[in-house]
Amino acid sequence: MDLFAAHPALFAAVAGLVGLAIGSFLNVVIHRLPLMLERQWRTQAAEIEGRPAAARGEPLNLVVPRSRCPACQAQIRGIHNIPVLSWIALRGRCAACRAPIPVRYPLVELATALAFAAVACHFGFGPSVLLALVFTAYLVALTGIDLDRQLLPDVLTMPLMWIGLLASLWHVDGQVAPPAALRDAVIGAVAGYVFLWLVFQLFKLATGKEGMGYGDFKLFAAIGAWLGWQMLPLVLLLAAAVGAVVGIAMVAASRLGRGVPIPFGPYLAGAAWIALLWGPDIVAGYLEFTGLR
Ligand SMILES: [Zn+2]
Repeated sequence: MDLFAAHPALFAAVAGLVGLAIGSFLNVVIHRLPLMLERQWRTQAAEIEGRPAAARGEPLNLVVPRSRCPACQAQIRGIHNIPVLSWIALRGRCAACRAPIPVRYPLVELATALAFAAVACHFGFGPSVLLALVFTAYLVALTGIDLDRQLLPDVLTMPLMWIGLLASLWHVDGQVAPPAALRDAVIGAVAGYVFLWLVFQLFKLATGKEGMGYGDFKLFAAIGAWLGWQMLPLVLLLAAAVGAVVGIAMVAASRLGRGVPIPFGPYLAGAAWIALLWGPDIVAGYLEFTGLR
């Protein structure tokens, strides 16, 4: 452990490698969690309507069954399950049937690895870094699922908020988040939810449309719990700025892009991650620039 404290580059490299493995697991979460939830909802709906539940089918969770090729059902062998490298070695194709494997699998692994290395670099070896890595992993999973399904599952956003609130009990004065100070975290969680809920209601009143989902409010609440309420305006500004740029680019690229709902979750998650690393610097720079401090 002293080794990591003495050699930040080594620590970042190890964090990157751990990130590859975690990214591989997050691929499973992104792919399977919505399927598991759908199954659960279908069973519940059948119960409410008094219909016999559909056949249970084979068990499905984050561990079972082992990963298979969606095209040929061949089980993926351990040697072909090495993050990124296997995909490159197989040239992006299934070893059994040569069906293409989407590039997003190695991309999620690579993005997680880079994000983990950046977090390790930024925080250095210490109590904050583990929390920051947990936060990062949740944000990657939520981004993937929201892009795929326009869904931010409660089973991810709620624990994320609780962990942020709980961690704030161990905040040390003078240290930057995470964990945020207890008071900042509690206000952050409430303010995050209420603010986006109000925007949603006003938008609905004005346009008759629903611009966001309740998952967005819960994610913003979780972000408030992790970073403290002070970071929420910055996160919102960053999310809106990135969202506007991507949105305009998408509409410009294809006229079909107009009217297609663009999930807000990925922008919130990306903005939260930027604020996790550079939020305090950005805010301090802004205050100095405007002469407020
Ligand atoms: Zn196959």
